[in-house]
Amino acid sequence: MRCPFCHSEDLKVLESRSAEDERSIRRRRECIECAQRFTTYERVEFAPMIVVKNGGSKEVYSREKLVSSIIRACSKSQISALTVDKIIDKVESSMYQDFTREIPSRDLGEMVMKELKSIDPMSFLRYASIFKKINSISEFIEEISLIEERIINEDLEFASFSKI
Ligand SMILES: [Zn+2]
Repeated sequence: MRCPFCHSEDLKVLESRSAEDERSIRRRRECIECAQRFTTYERVEFAPMIVVKNGGSKEVYSREKLVSSIIRACSKSQISALTVDKIIDKVESSMYQDFTREIPSRDLGEMVMKELKSIDPMSFLRYASIFKKINSISEFIEEISLIEERIINEDLEFASFSKI
């Protein structure tokens, strides 16, 4: 490291401490040559995940983007922001576990849908149709009937359980 003012390499550290997020170290330094003071940060580097879209174009994975896509699908349901966070935590941990550096957007979408399906079937359907994971009306109807079947089964289980 060199002094940003005179480019000397003779520096001393006046103070070191964790920055606000605890993931980085902030150091106050002074140049012995010119006596100017400046601050440096040292942080852990996370290699960003790259999302590969269907057409082949790539973009850096963004949690914020995923949050807004889920919020969009869930806007009419009762899913809380906390639940959305939990869904994304799960998706992120399997993403970093199963993929290195690149993930096809299709796989990312499927991970989200898998979580949504078990939490809120209607949001799952909305998500799937918004992101064109369901490509035809017949697929849509098929998904709805699967969900209906599951709800009916759950009701039956509940009904028989209540009789006991
Ligand atoms: Zn200097």
